[in-house]
Amino acid sequence: MKKVEVITPILNANDLVAQENQNLLKTHGILPVNLMASPGAGKTSLVLQTIKALQGRARLGVVEGDIASSIDSDKVAATHTPVVQINTGGECHLDALTVQKALKALPLSSLDILLIENVGNLICPVEFRLGEKIRVAIASVAEGDDKPYKYPGIFTSVHAVVLNKIDLLPYVDFDLEAMRQAIKRLNPGAKIFELSCRTGEGVTAWAAWLESQWKVQEK
Ligand code: MG
Repeated sequence: MKKVEVITPILNANDLVAQENQNLLKTHGILPVNLMASPGAGKTSLVLQTIKALQGRARLGVVEGDIASSIDSDKVAATHTPVVQINTGGECHLDALTVQKALKALPLSSLDILLIENVGNLICPVEFRLGEKIRVAIASVAEGDDKPYKYPGIFTSVHAVVLNKIDLLPYVDFDLEAMRQAIKRLNPGAKIFELSCRTGEGVTAWAAWLESQWKVQEK
C-alpha cells in the first residue's frame, strides 16, 4: 500500500516534465523518438544508419543515454550531427528532467527529428516518459524470439518494433514468424521493421516511416 503512495507522485512529477519537453519540441516542429532496447541490440547502430538514410531529408539531433562513457556520442559526433551525451551514473533509464537539461544544449531551431537513445534495458525505461512522440523497441535476431512475451511492458507500449541483425538469420535459431506473431498478439497496431544495420538492408523502409511521422506532426 505504502509503495503505491510513494511511486505515484514520482511518476507524476516525471510525466509533468515530459509534457514540458514534448511541448517545447512541438513548438520547434521536432519529432522526438525514444529508442529502447537491451544492451547490444543495435540502438547506436540504428541511430547511425538513420542519420545516413535521412541525410538531406530531415535534420537530426541525438541524445545518447548511457550509464557511463561517451563512446556512442563520439560515433554520432563524427557524422557532424548535434549530439548530447547523458551519463546516468548507474541509473538504468533516462528520465524527463535529464532529457530537459540535454535539450538546452541542442540547437532546437535547426532540428527536425530528435533520436533519444535510452539506456540499454528492457524494463526501467518503459515507466519514464521523456517527452517523446514515438516510442520504439529494438530487438535483434541474436536474442530470443520469445522476448515480447518475457518483456510485455515494452512491447505493448511502443509504436514500432525494429528487428535488427536479420543478416544473421541463417546462423541463429531465431523463429522470425514466431516473433512477428508475438508482437502482433501483444500490440496489433505496432509497426514492425526487419532490418540489418550492418548491411543496410531494410533501413530505407524504417527511415521513410520515421520521416513520414515527422511530416504528419508538422501539419
Ligand atoms: Mg548505444
